[in-house]
Amino acid sequence: MVWFRRDLRVHDQGSLAAAGGAGEPIVPLFILDSALWPTVGRRRQDRLAASLRSLDSSIRQLGGPGLVVRTGEPHKVLLQICEEASADTVWHSAEFTPYGKARDERVGEELTAAGIAFEPADSPFLHPPGEVLTGSGTGYSVFTPYYKSWLGRQTPEPIEVRDLRFDHSLDCGSLPEANEQTRAGEDEALGMLQSFVHEGLTAYGSKRNRPDQDSTSHLGAALHFGELHPRTVVAAAREAEGEAFIRQLCWRDFYGDVLFRLPQARNQNVDQRFDAIPWETGPGADGAYERWTAGMTGYPFVDAGMRQLVQTGWMHNRVRMVVASFLTKDLLLHWRKGADFFSQQLLDADVANNSLGWQWTAGTGTDAAPYFRVFNPVLQGLKFDPNGDYVRQYVPELGHLEGTAVHEPWKHPDGYRDGYPERMVDHAQAREDALRIYESVKAATQ
Ligand SMILES: Cc1cc2nc3c(=O)[nH]c(=O)nc-3n(C[C@H](O)[C@H](O)[C@H](O)COP(=O)(O)OP(=O)(O)OC[C@H]3O[C@@H](n4cnc5c(N)ncnc54)[C@H](O)[C@@H]3O)c2cc1C
Repeated sequence: MVWFRRDLRVHDQGSLAAAGGAGEPIVPLFILDSALWPTVGRRRQDRLAASLRSLDSSIRQLGGPGLVVRTGEPHKVLLQICEEASADTVWHSAEFTPYGKARDERVGEELTAAGIAFEPADSPFLHPPGEVLTGSGTGYSVFTPYYKSWLGRQTPEPIEVRDLRFDHSLDCGSLPEANEQTRAGEDEALGMLQSFVHEGLTAYGSKRNRPDQDSTSHLGAALHFGELHPRTVVAAAREAEGEAFIRQLCWRDFYGDVLFRLPQARNQNVDQRFDAIPWETGPGADGAYERWTAGMTGYPFVDAGMRQLVQTGWMHNRVRMVVASFLTKDLLLHWRKGADFFSQQLLDADVANNSLGWQWTAGTGTDAAPYFRVFNPVLQGLKFDPNGDYVRQYVPELGHLEGTAVHEPWKHPDGYRDGYPERMVDHAQAREDALRIYESVKAATQ
């Protein structure tokens, strides 16, 4: 049995390679986990469904019966289907998130008790959590030394998958419905990787902070669902000398490692001194949160980002930092509220990258932006959207303002002509208030 989870591909696929090497006929299984499926939201359900359809057709092309799909609690489904197929081994890619780890422990116990081996054969990372260690054998808390150590390790090469034979005896069941327009799956991801490597990689280092230019890979969702393994991505990027890009991929391994060691980081401050921050919870807090989610804060760069997120399921990294800073520092709303909204909306939503990306911006994480860094939403817009094109694309009420005028409608007599809202807070004042609160919390706990 090969149990697919976040490894929805047939190339560079450790579990398939291991099962192929074992020489027995393979059952390719996906379980729609009844605890997870309803919680992921329609957008990601659709993305996952399209990816499963693509995997199903890849398996058929390899001579298999298609993807076998079942719904239910994984340990129960596995026990039953292993019995039906007389399987003695379940190959899988190891999981390191709090939910994935707990699920696999339970599954492992139940399968072992039934005499079935539960064998990890891969992981979703280049270097799996727990492997990149300091000289004294502990994990890293700070990115730069982790990165140096990560670079110093031998880079694993893509895994060759061959000699697959499939079991055709089981009914495949039904794939979940997907919107025909949704583009997903391994072939799509490999195509995106190739065009990024040929067209985008050279300029990535200089342009990756520019949301007005489509300069990043957009591979986050493909990496999250495992339509591509980072081995494949790094091998392609290395050929094109993509150091700046490979460094960003290392953040993904780093955050995976941090969450593995500190599972509470999913929803609690890593730096507990900041537990004392008096986040806004009063009557105004809900309204402020609604304005942020709707892209109606009155700060054009923030609003463009929030509208991009809601309309497309993706937001540029620079803008993710700016909107996160705005929620936590300007509005003093808990980063968890922002992380929850991101995870409902983002197609690349990933518990490690999301929680720790939020904690980095809020200043509460292991390797966090210093708490006194508060992004100025106007200066960030002027610097990283220097012609105003990004804002005009997502905020049509400002479409009549030319060039950088779009970042400061308050300076123009017709700035609010088309109904764009006035600023909900004064950033300079909000920044001072936030700094005072963060400083007093730090001082009280030192
Ligand atoms: C508040 C906040 C929340 C975030 N939430 C997520 C999330 O839920 N899922 C997610 O994958 N990334 C998240 N990120 C990190 C980053 O913004 C996205 O990975 C990136 O914007 C995705 O676009 P891309 O694929 O074009 O990235 P590229 O720039 O092309 O990078 C390639 C890949 O490297 C990895 N990567 C790049 N930057 C980072 C980073 N800072 N941290 C971790 N991995 C990185 C991602 O897998 C990404 O797809 C978050 C960042 C912040 C500040």
